[in-house]
Amino acid sequence: KLGKKVRITTNDEFKQLGSAFNIMSTKLDQVDKQRKDFVANVSHELRTPLSSIKLLSESLIHQNEDDISVYKDFLKNIDSEIDRLNNIIDDLLTLVDLDKAKLNLEYKTTYINYLLENIISNLMPLADKKDIDLKLIEKEKIQIKIDQNKIQQAIINIIHNAIKYTPEGGKVEVTLYTKNRYTIIKVKDNGIGIPKESLPNIFERFYRVDKARSRNTGGTGLGLSIAYQIVTLHQGAIEVESEVGKGSTFYIKIPNDIDLS
Ligand code: ADP
Repeated sequence: KLGKKVRITTNDEFKQLGSAFNIMSTKLDQVDKQRKDFVANVSHELRTPLSSIKLLSESLIHQNEDDISVYKDFLKNIDSEIDRLNNIIDDLLTLVDLDKAKLNLEYKTTYINYLLENIISNLMPLADKKDIDLKLIEKEKIQIKIDQNKIQQAIINIIHNAIKYTPEGGKVEVTLYTKNRYTIIKVKDNGIGIPKESLPNIFERFYRVDKARSRNTGGTGLGLSIAYQIVTLHQGAIEVESEVGKGSTFYIKIPNDIDLS
């Protein structure tokens, strides 16, 4: 009769279903927490420069100085806080764009050499300003399929950091080569280095080893997370080795034969 046709769910199956459901709901909770944390972080990051601007403009309003240079100093500080707000918003928009781009990167066969040469010549003035010896070593000529604009941004972020976190007179060496079917862009600096305990966190959004130093150099705390996301979208990886006081080496690894299926 009817009862015989109904498939009875066994105890074991119930248990499996239950644990699958638990895993799913834990995942959902995690995503929800990450989203909430992110919104809280963004608010905090935007509020910091805004509070400074408010404080500076209030002081300006109450100034009775005749000396115009006093006013100019206040305005210069306000101006640089506005730059900071702009940088944060630009980086946030890049992250939103990357979330959307997940499924449709604009792949183009590219000579990575030309891309790197171009990046280095654009960053040279910044290195010169700090008397940093910025060098590019091209071991071979490499053509790969990438989204040019995005990979360019990832590479710029890493080299820019190397310049930012290396004291005057230091060295930044960028080397391009192939290993095990991966194109490697190695960025080695002899700067301040990263403490071992911070290494697992540096690719997180808004994480900085030293907040004050990052802010002074115009950092948003988003550069590495953007680079990481771009390289991961290309099925690649970023690895880092570092020693405090000696310097850091970042390896950007992009597969030579990307799977576009
Ligand atoms: P930021 O805008 O602060 O530079 P990033 O996401 O680019 O943010 O980097 C995160 C943190 O990692 C930085 O604040 C800095 O503490 C550390 N960092 C990144 N690159 C280097 C480097 N080459 N040398 C030393 N520290 C670095």
